[in-house]
Amino acid sequence: MKDSVWQDVQLKTYPALTENKETDVLVIGGGICGILCAYYLSFHHKVILVEADRIAGKRTGKTTAVITALQDIFYKDIAKSKGKYVASAYLQANLDAIESYGKLAEEFDFDFVRVSSYKYFSEEEKLNEELNCIQTLGYPATRVKNAIAFSNQAQMHPLKLIAHLLDSFEIYENTKITAIQNQTAYTSQYAIKAKYIIVATGYPFLKLKGMFPLKLTQKKSYVAVISHSNEQEYNAIGSHPGDLYFRTYKDTMLIGANDQATGKPKKNYVNLIEYIEKKYPNHSILYQWVNQDCVSLDGFPYIGHYGTARNLYVATGFNLWGMTGSMIAAKLLTDIIENRKTSYKALFQPKRFMPLLPLCKNISTVLCNFFKIKKRCSHLGCALYYNKEEGVYECPCHGTKYSSKGEIIFNPAQKNIDIKK
Ligand SMILES: Cc1cc2nc3c(=O)[nH]c(=O)nc-3n(C[C@H](O)[C@H](O)[C@H](O)COP(=O)(O)OP(=O)(O)OC[C@H]3O[C@@H](n4cnc5c(N)ncnc54)[C@H](O)[C@@H]3O)c2cc1C
Repeated sequence: MKDSVWQDVQLKTYPALTENKETDVLVIGGGICGILCAYYLSFHHKVILVEADRIAGKRTGKTTAVITALQDIFYKDIAKSKGKYVASAYLQANLDAIESYGKLAEEFDFDFVRVSSYKYFSEEEKLNEELNCIQTLGYPATRVKNAIAFSNQAQMHPLKLIAHLLDSFEIYENTKITAIQNQTAYTSQYAIKAKYIIVATGYPFLKLKGMFPLKLTQKKSYVAVISHSNEQEYNAIGSHPGDLYFRTYKDTMLIGANDQATGKPKKNYVNLIEYIEKKYPNHSILYQWVNQDCVSLDGFPYIGHYGTARNLYVATGFNLWGMTGSMIAAKLLTDIIENRKTSYKALFQPKRFMPLLPLCKNISTVLCNFFKIKKRCSHLGCALYYNKEEGVYECPCHGTKYSSKGEIIFNPAQKNIDIKK
C-alpha cells in the first residue's frame, strides 16, 4: 500500500550545497512553513532555502491539508485563559491565512476548494457554550445537527501548491544545518551568511536555544484514505481527543484518528482499519500513514525571535494545524523582517508567558525518563519508548522518532542511535 496520498506528486530535485554562500534571507527547513516564508520574502529579498533531506518529506508530506479556523482548540477556553480579545485575534489570524491561500489560488492550481468545516459534539452543553462564545467573538458560526459549522473554509493539495512556489528562490536539498553563529549557518562543510535566518525545521534543531525542550512536545496521528464518491466536499473533526476526523479529496475520503503523544502508551485508541472495514465494507483502503507535529503549551504556535539574537527567527508548535499556522508564520515573519507593523506579533511570540500546568508536566516527563534504564535519545538523553506496532523508537520527552535501525524519522535529535548497544 502507498504512503501519503499527496506524495504521488513528484517534486523537482535540488542539489546539495557545495560552496559557501551569502544571502539576504536563509530559510532552514523545506516543509510548508519554510517554503511559504521563502516565497513571500523572495518578493523583495534574495532567499536561500536549505533542506536536510527532501522538500516536503517530513510532516508536510503527510498532512491532511485542511485550511480552517475551526480547530481542536476551544475558543471558549482561549477566551477564559487569555481573554476575548486574544480569542478573537487568533480566530482572525486563521481566517486571514485562509484568505492568503485563496489569493495564491487565483494564481496557481493546487486543488484549492472552499468548503465548510464542522466540529461535532457528543455533549449538547459543550456545543452550545462553544457556539455562543464564537458568536460573541463576532464570527457567524452556525449549528448543523450535532456540529458547529464554519462556512468558506478550505482544503488543498499541499504538494501541488509547493511545486508552484519552488522556482521563486534558491534551494539546496540534502543540506543539513548543524550550527548557527553570528548570522552564519553551518553544515558539516560549508557556511551560509545571511542578514536574516528563519528556522522552520519542525522542532527547532538547536538543542536548548529558546528553551523549546521545556515548552514543545510532539503528537502523532493516523490517517487512512478510502475510495469514496463524495456528493459534497467538506471536512470534520470531533470535540474529544479520541474522535475521528474526515476530509474529502476528489473521489476519496481521508479518515484520521488517534491523536496521541509521541513516545507514550496509547490512549483512547481506535483501530482505524477495523473501523473503516466495518463502516465502509465495500471501500478499499488506498493509502495509510502516521505523521506527527509539534505541540505548544498553550495551543498557539511559536512564531518570532529565536532566543535573543536580533535577526534569527523561528516558527513551530503548530499543534497539527500548520496549514493556517505556517501561513500566519510566513506573513508575520515577512512583516517583521520588512519592518511593517503587525498586530499578531505579541500573540505568537515564543517568549510569551507559559501556562504552568503543562509546563510542569513536560518537566516531570523529562525527569522521569532521564533516570530509566533503556535505550537513550541522542537529543537530550531521555529513555526511548519502543512502539511495537510500528517497530520504531520514540522519545516521550520531545518526540524524536527513530526507525528500527536507529535512523531519525522525525527531529529534534540530530544523530542516529546505535540499536545494538
Ligand atoms: C496526521 C496529521 C494531519 C494533519 N493535518 C493537518 C490539516 O489538515 N491542517 C493543518 O492545518 N495542519 C495539519 N497537520 C499539521 C501540519 O501537517 C504541520 O503543522 C505542518 O506540516 C508542519 O510543517 P513544517 O514546515 O513546520 O514542518 P516539516 O514539514 O516537518 O518541515 C520541516 C523541514 O525541516 C527539515 N529540517 C529539519 N532539521 C533540519 C536541519 N537541521 N537543516 C535543514 N533542514 C532541516 C526537515 O527535514 C523538514 O523537511 C497535520 C498533522 C498531522 C500529524
